[in-house]
Amino acid sequence: MTGTRAALHRPGTVGETVRILAEAGDAELLAGGTDLVPALRAGTRRPRAIVALRRVLELRARGACAQALTIGAGVTYAELADWACAPGLAATARAVGSAQIRNAGTVGGALGSANPRGDLLTFLTAAGTDVLTCSARRGPRTAPLDDFLAGAPGRGRGELVTAIRVPRPRGPQVFLKIGGRQAAYPALVSCALVVDRAGGRVSCAIGGVASTPLRASEAESFAAAEIDWTSPGRDEAAWASVARRFGALVADAARAAPAQLPEGPRDPAAYRWHAAGVLAGRALARCFAGGDQEHGAPAEGGARMPHLRSSGGDQGHGESAEGGARMPHLRSSGGDQGPGESTEGRGR
Ligand SMILES: Cc1cc2nc3c(=O)[nH]c(=O)nc-3n(C[C@H](O)[C@H](O)[C@H](O)COP(=O)(O)OP(=O)(O)OC[C@H]3O[C@@H](n4cnc5c(N)ncnc54)[C@H](O)[C@@H]3O)c2cc1C
Repeated sequence: MTGTRAALHRPGTVGETVRILAEAGDAELLAGGTDLVPALRAGTRRPRAIVALRRVLELRARGACAQALTIGAGVTYAELADWACAPGLAATARAVGSAQIRNAGTVGGALGSANPRGDLLTFLTAAGTDVLTCSARRGPRTAPLDDFLAGAPGRGRGELVTAIRVPRPRGPQVFLKIGGRQAAYPALVSCALVVDRAGGRVSCAIGGVASTPLRASEAESFAAAEIDWTSPGRDEAAWASVARRFGALVADAARAAPAQLPEGPRDPAAYRWHAAGVLAGRALARCFAGGDQEHGAPAEGGARMPHLRSSGGDQGHGESAEGGARMPHLRSSGGDQGPGESTEGRGR
């Protein structure tokens, strides 16, 4: 698969791993192998050494403290999908690939590949994640995910991701994606919305438009200003208007993003911008207007959601959503899907 040149190493600790990485020079880490093995087979990667991480049990740990969740790089999507401490993360993990991919694919592999269409990266961007790394030269370091991803193309291969640190959920979280058949293709566009009720913040990240997930800061500020964070209640009609405006601002942010991904015959840029807006508007509406009817549970464990300060949407009554364009179809996650369908995940 790799020719006869690649040496296989099986370290048992993080220290041993980074020492081997430093000595080997051109090495690949083998975690779940869902990205690496196809690349080795295709000959697009021909490393001098492969460092298998299966025996590095430190990387498999997860933990929760009052403020944050710490998740080892070796934790799989399947393990995340069951984690009650992290419902948004769990919902995102459930939207990844097939059961086989979720059983093998890891958090560290998602960061190592840094695929701009990767579902997890979109969610982690919205959640405000730190990445913990270790290398023989620089020792352990912590960096915001944005910085980690910005350095990904030129980063030396001697760096091991050991864990990520994600703030504990403080409000509803939604992940939506649209694309081809879920088990076989990455998402065309994904959207994660993370609400911090205590801090009065809405964070929205879009994947699949630019080379790294983008934050729609103008849209986030608009939504945060529309919400009356102190007063419970809901007004679904007003929320629909705000969600449309929010979606339009997210579509604008997608259009203006630097480093746009190349267009393909099935995903022209204009479609991706539009889809980003539709998914974002829908995610906001799900967080605030719709309760949790689809899953039969009240939002926030029974707590009522904040309502709008005023119905300050910018659209007149009777206007159709997205200027009359058709909305992408969505259905619940949890199974493999047919072409053109999309997936959703929700957690609180
Ligand atoms: C059929 C199929 C369907 C898929 N569907 C989806 C999907 O729906 N959504 C989605 O987001 N992804 C999807 N993927 C992509 C894939 O599952 C993820 O990118 C996965 O997270 C990679 O993790 P891994 O453990 O398999 O990494 P590996 O393949 O083992 O490694 C990938 C890269 O990361 C590096 N690496 C591994 N561990 C570390 C570490 N600890 N520190 C630093 N670098 C590291 C490796 O050196 C390598 O370059 C799919 C893949 C396939 C084959």
